[in-house]
Amino acid sequence: MGFFSWECKCCSKSILSPYCHKELDWMNKMTMVLKTGEVLQGEYDGYGGLGYRTDEYRFSDDWDIDENADDICMSNENRATFYHTRCYEESGRPAFAGTSSSASDQGFFLDPKKYLLTSV
Ligand SMILES: [Zn+2]
Repeated sequence: MGFFSWECKCCSKSILSPYCHKELDWMNKMTMVLKTGEVLQGEYDGYGGLGYRTDEYRFSDDWDIDENADDICMSNENRATFYHTRCYEESGRPAFAGTSSSASDQGFFLDPKKYLLTSV
């Protein structure tokens, strides 16, 4: 299975896999806002999962998602908005705003012009 990803609802650029250029590391930090209002945060693993979770639900089963799903982003793409965590914070922590479009670059095959890399 290859990489896949979604576009951040704020900036329309991809949530990146962890295998991208260091300068773009912030774009790997992801926030998921569910229709229910629950907010999940962590680092996108490139394959539909969220690792290194920092949200309040990470040690809890007090929510309505299958905690054991290892592809938590993929499993919930139809009821979550995806943001880069930096965009989410800078935009005043927006609520659920509809589902996010899948990213044509799969969060990995980036167009250097679009991502303004200063060195590759
Ligand atoms: Zn963004």
